[in-house]
Amino acid sequence: MEDGFARLRAEMVEYQLKGRGIKDPRVLFAMGRVPRHRFLPARLQASAYDDSALPIGSGQTISQPYMVAAMTELLELKGNEKVLEVGTGSGYQAAILAELSNKVVSMERIETLSNEAGKLLKELGYGNIELVAGDGTIGYAPEAPYDGIIVTAACPDIPAPLFEQLNNGGRLVLPVGDRFLQTLTIVKKKEGRMITEYSFGCVFVPLIGKYGFPD
Ligand code: SAM
Repeated sequence: MEDGFARLRAEMVEYQLKGRGIKDPRVLFAMGRVPRHRFLPARLQASAYDDSALPIGSGQTISQPYMVAAMTELLELKGNEKVLEVGTGSGYQAAILAELSNKVVSMERIETLSNEAGKLLKELGYGNIELVAGDGTIGYAPEAPYDGIIVTAACPDIPAPLFEQLNNGGRLVLPVGDRFLQTLTIVKKKEGRMITEYSFGCVFVPLIGKYGFPD
């Protein structure tokens, strides 16, 4: 079956990613390498390379492959960065980021998800990911500043601590909107100033916390 998964993964890269305009060869390589099926419960592994988000337990989801690739591409990682992810979930996006940067700090508010992701990422050999259980809307100051920050849950606004913890020249990629519809937003920090750009519409589970939605 591993061979079958490799074929499905190659097709996912070809049709869902390249076919929709993902161009960064490093992102395409990472998406072709990380075994997405391992981040899903056994009963859903056969659907791991489908063009959709899937449930991972605790009412949460692993994002659609295209969304993972598009958000990662927007970070423009070259390989030497320190990246913060808010919303570890299954740990899949963290693994993709770990393939493309020097160090990843990933935060998750649901402790059981964080623990499960930690076990799997260790088993898969990722030594450059630090998982932190807690409210990611306040960021993680001990490892700041970050060259890139990605939020994989819907934000009502740009969480101020995340912009503060962004390095000059860094990029923050996050879905901003209400609980039902958001716009993928790119925030750049240039000499301390905020420059905001907007990409396409998207739908994420809510970011819940001090600078997110109420519980
Ligand atoms: N990146 C994940 C993956 O690759 O599987 C998918 C993330 S899922 C769409 C969003 C995650 O954000 C959920 O696991 C949810 O519990 C988490 N989340 C929501 N609010 C949070 C917060 N304040 N801090 C950290 N994680 C949060």
